[in-house]
Amino acid sequence: MIRANEPTRKRVMLLITPTSYRSSAFNSAAERLDIEVVHGIDVPDTLSREWDVELPLDFSRPQEAAERIARFVTDRLVDAIISVDDSASILAALATSRLNLPGNDPKAALAARDKHVMRRLLAEHDVPVPVFHAFPADADATTMSGEVDYPCVVKPTLLSGSRGVIRANDQDEFILAVERTRGVIHDDGEMLENATILVEAFIPGFEVALEGLLDAGELQVLALFDKPDPLDGPFFEETIYVTPSRLPADVQYAIAECTRRAAQALGLREGPVHAELRVNEDGPWILEIAGRSIGGLCSTILEFGTGYALEELILMQATGRHVHGIERNAGAVGVMMIPIPSGGILRGVTGIEAANNVPGVTGIEITARLNHSIVPLPEGSSYLGFIFAHGETPGDVEQALRDAHALLEFRITPEIRLRALAR
Ligand code: ADP
Repeated sequence: MIRANEPTRKRVMLLITPTSYRSSAFNSAAERLDIEVVHGIDVPDTLSREWDVELPLDFSRPQEAAERIARFVTDRLVDAIISVDDSASILAALATSRLNLPGNDPKAALAARDKHVMRRLLAEHDVPVPVFHAFPADADATTMSGEVDYPCVVKPTLLSGSRGVIRANDQDEFILAVERTRGVIHDDGEMLENATILVEAFIPGFEVALEGLLDAGELQVLALFDKPDPLDGPFFEETIYVTPSRLPADVQYAIAECTRRAAQALGLREGPVHAELRVNEDGPWILEIAGRSIGGLCSTILEFGTGYALEELILMQATGRHVHGIERNAGAVGVMMIPIPSGGILRGVTGIEAANNVPGVTGIEITARLNHSIVPLPEGSSYLGFIFAHGETPGDVEQALRDAHALLEFRITPEIRLRALAR
């Protein structure tokens, strides 16, 4: 149990999973801001003593976990509860609303996690979204295939990182896509009979990502990223993000406005938002808006005001400090999430030194572990790593990322399944 705190020092509860990419950036930010951190970690009780976890939680049971947080935090002893990524955004909303701390309404947090709820609310509020149909995940694929238009995108409603998201151009591709998406849902542990598959019109166009911060419903745009690689399917790997955007100012304004309306439609009012949009001659379309900050190690490239990291702004805002008007520092920056080219065992990576020496490249992190299995999209959920770059113009940054990536070589050997050998 935590004890009464000195009144001046802020204390924040961070909700993390043991594998979250985002924990260390939030921990460092808290340290720099002299904020005390309490960790609520998604680990089973049986492991919590061995791992010395002060507050073990089960994120898959958010109601129970919120009760446990409320028991732990007696007398409002934390100033904020923050999920470092998507995994506990609903739990954070449940806990903050229970403890009267600033945060999102649990209904809004749910809408930002469930693609079907999100689509319904956005459509109801006239925010431009693709035409969509929701089907029970165990429905007959041939029947479904007659009820949709092509090209379309098949996706699970509760996963993220483009897992199980597949484009289909005709009925045959659609039936295969549905089978594959079902497999991803099943492997994630969801019962097919309780799950939903969303099918929506494929929106052609240029994709962008908006990083923002909501304060009492007001959206502050922190960065707008162009995603210059074509994302036309059949799978949708995120690769390059570059900011500032090269789109004209009026288009950027329309993107911000569309994101603001989307947040409002869902009821998101506090904290970070990360939105993905497509832009074409009809204007911006919301693909997704999530109540979290940018994923992976991508935030490393962002710096604000007198050198604040994105996570510092999030913690400052959550603990009642004003961040309005703090802007991203000048200069172009970018990151490439290195996609997994094929499944197997990652045996080695070469060319890192040469890639690091490409002018403009500021760092390379290979996050996939050697001699471990790697799985590409649409089944996989991770990247090989990240390349970071800066430059005078967004074009320089994009080129540096591409040049560095071209110098990296990944040795991947086929995975031999033990069960197959045992037969
Ligand atoms: P996730 O939350 O798993 O990332 P999204 O719904 O954001 O799932 O889709 C992932 C990616 O798939 C998007 O960033 C986009 O590139 C592509 N995509 C998804 N839906 C559509 C669509 N209706 N039209 C075009 N591309 C889409």
